Amino acid sequence: MKILVLNAGSSSLKYQLFLMESSEVLAKGTCERIGAGGFITHKRGDEAYSEEVDFPNHGVALEKVLSLLCSKEYGVIGSVKEIDAVGHRVAHGGEKLKESSLITESVVKYLETIVPINPLHGPPAIAGIKACLALMPDVPQVAVFDTSFYSTVEDSRFVYAIPYEFYENDKIRRYGFHGTSHRYVSAELAKAVGKPIEDLKMITCHLGNGSSITAVDGGKAIDTSMGFTPQEGVVMGTRSGSIDPTVVTYLMKTKGYTAQEVEDILNKKSGLLGVSGISNDLRNVFSAAEEGNYRAQLTIKLLVNSIKKLIGSYVAEMNGLDALVFTAGIGENQSNVREMVCENMSYLGIEIDTDRNANFTRGIPFNITKDGAKVQVWIIPTNEEYMIAIDTQRLASK
Ligand code: ADP
Repeated sequence: MKILVLNAGSSSLKYQLFLMESSEVLAKGTCERIGAGGFITHKRGDEAYSEEVDFPNHGVALEKVLSLLCSKEYGVIGSVKEIDAVGHRVAHGGEKLKESSLITESVVKYLETIVPINPLHGPPAIAGIKACLALMPDVPQVAVFDTSFYSTVEDSRFVYAIPYEFYENDKIRRYGFHGTSHRYVSAELAKAVGKPIEDLKMITCHLGNGSSITAVDGGKAIDTSMGFTPQEGVVMGTRSGSIDPTVVTYLMKTKGYTAQEVEDILNKKSGLLGVSGISNDLRNVFSAAEEGNYRAQLTIKLLVNSIKKLIGSYVAEMNGLDALVFTAGIGENQSNVREMVCENMSYLGIEIDTDRNANFTRGIPFNITKDGAKVQVWIIPTNEEYMIAIDTQRLASK
């Protein structure tokens, strides 16, 4: 079975074509600058191809992807008919779409109704789905939501303590994001330690440019750090993470900023970039810190502390912990962050083997637990696209 996985962003369209029998990626790539020029990078194994193309919208970008996938020079299939199903990454499923779903007219209609609470990711995701429905009307399409892993979170952990009508009428609540990644790595952790997921309490740390931490008890998410939007939680590349909300109104009152301006500050100019003044890329912040830059050193401390605090609170919520998982760009690659997060955590049973942590093997589940420690600590490479392909295969085969 061949499954095309699509991830539409506001100006991008990422794709991967999977051969499910061998879990192999036949080809993958990215369309960028959609609506403002256009550029495609396409990979087949080690061969890479790129081209400037005019992409006025996601539909035209998708046409280009399909023609490359079928092309003689760079293609991997003879015709579009070989694609058995398409899986779409959709960031937000709102309150109703609690699990991955076959795309029907009513699913698309519901996604349109929740654009107000998902203004950045909703429109491009819907555009990607509509483009696919138009170009491949007979191929089953599946939507996989970042939020659906959190359908098991209880109301006492998703309702904010603001007047209840804002939840009832405006749907303001914690939704949580990155759920496909947390679901994937929690299942992989269970496989790696050879125990049923039902018997494990774990905390999964997805630390990338956007970061989130999830408490997973018995395979079910019980709490997560991102909230109404991906803004809440740990310090991120350019996002502040959790702050006192009065900072927003204070900035608006004293500086005359508009709502949009404050949102841009907190979303695009804060986090690692905002505090360090150097970069949203943690590698650059570390380089500056090593040269003695105070703000870079402070940034790293803020980041690490924001992660530690959440781990501690989730241990308290679950009354224990069996495994701690690190994943995504920072979690999978930055030994120093893992070491600092796990430092002085022996009270909770978290202790890592610093040699194994520093000399880890990339790209595979890797155990960095100190011998005899109570809590297993692992690096698990995430693979959201493969998780989407698996869900798509399951639903399309029904
Ligand atoms: P996104 O959330 O956009 O998918 P990533 O998961 O790639 O981002 O995470 C980006 C962060 O991961 C950056 O701060 C970067 O420093 C770090 N990172 C990514 N790859 C590496 C690497 N090979 N070595 C060290 N750090 C990395």
